[in-house]
Amino acid sequence: MSLPTVGAPGPFAPRRPSVTAFVRGVGVGASHPVVVQSMTNTDTADAAATALQVAALHRAGSQIVRVTVNNDEAAAAVPELRARLDDMGLDVPLVGDFHYNGHLLLTKYPACAAALDKYRINPGNVGTRHRDANFTQIVQVAIDHAKPVRIGVNWGSLDQDLLTQMMNANASSAAPRDAKDVYIEAMLESALRSAALAEEVGLPHDRILISAKVSVVADLVEVYRRLARRCDYPLHLGLTEAGMGAKGIVASTAGLAILLGEGIGDTIRVSLTPKPGGDRSEEVFVAQQILQSLGMRSFAPQVTACPGCGRTTSTFFQHMAEDIQTYLREQMPVWKQSHPGVVEMKVAVMGCVVNGPGESKHANIGISLPGTFEEPKAPVYVDGKLLTTLKGDRIVAEFLEILDAYVARTYAPAESAALV
Ligand code: SF4
Repeated sequence: MSLPTVGAPGPFAPRRPSVTAFVRGVGVGASHPVVVQSMTNTDTADAAATALQVAALHRAGSQIVRVTVNNDEAAAAVPELRARLDDMGLDVPLVGDFHYNGHLLLTKYPACAAALDKYRINPGNVGTRHRDANFTQIVQVAIDHAKPVRIGVNWGSLDQDLLTQMMNANASSAAPRDAKDVYIEAMLESALRSAALAEEVGLPHDRILISAKVSVVADLVEVYRRLARRCDYPLHLGLTEAGMGAKGIVASTAGLAILLGEGIGDTIRVSLTPKPGGDRSEEVFVAQQILQSLGMRSFAPQVTACPGCGRTTSTFFQHMAEDIQTYLREQMPVWKQSHPGVVEMKVAVMGCVVNGPGESKHANIGISLPGTFEEPKAPVYVDGKLLTTLKGDRIVAEFLEILDAYVARTYAPAESAALV
């Protein structure tokens, strides 16, 4: 049977066929758009704080949110976390991340098992003495509660017995392979053996998702290419321990873009280390931007801004580009409901006349600010035509008014569109 897939845009490969696993109604698989997900960094035992962060991540666009469930207090707090989200009217799927004691916690706290929408199991972290028994126990809970499971292998916590066994077999073979090659094979073997065991225990094929995360981009690409060829489980992509700031964003983007462009990946998470006190939602915006930059999904209107140069000696241009981006992001929760299609809008904010009018004409709406020594006026283009020229201190405010009017006019509210 051939599996349905979502079409691939432009020059990219079609999505790799995969079954769909439903996580509280969110379909993850090739017949659904690539899903954005994220993870909290609050103490799950603090249900109030965790609920607020889950809500913030979900409102930022995270379709699925994972929380760590690492001890009794965290497991006991999960039902309250779910209740708080329900009270906020948020139908966001919650995933429990389990290591070492998942079999104990899920058995001891059935309300936690029921409240979660998916369990993440790392086969390298289910215990050394009773690995299969512990793994089976978690899978049995998943079967009893009709929950999907992500088998999430990680480079940093690979099943050491399996690795040793495969390394030894390789060393004694007639033509030993490179150690890294064996390491990658051990990761895949761990994931796929665990999936097979889960199915043997009785977990349906379409309730299994797989990830195999590493922290080096080239290795990530290799691991997932091999994994993609060997199964039709939905794949969760992510570069583990991507790091902070530009490094984390660029490394994640580099790895995920290659794989997504090859049609590999059904859900993504960008594992950024936030700055102290930083906004956790950044990882959601980055994940969305990767998909939107590849033309695979649209989440928010795109702002095209020139980088600025010696012609833009004041910071006015930078502030304006940022103000417009922020304004668009703030409007999106409402606009997405009230003005369908607005996510496709393109806005250009350009620093001077060199490329300003040209780029503005390619956007739905664009403004070209005056560069240094240029006449202090800012032409505004709408759908490729000069609409007006703004001057004075209210350029930003007047541009946002024009933007609002354009959105209201162009992306008709759903109910009024039906009346036209
Ligand atoms: S549009 Fe003008 S200000 Fe912007 S980078 Fe080009 S030359 Fe510089």
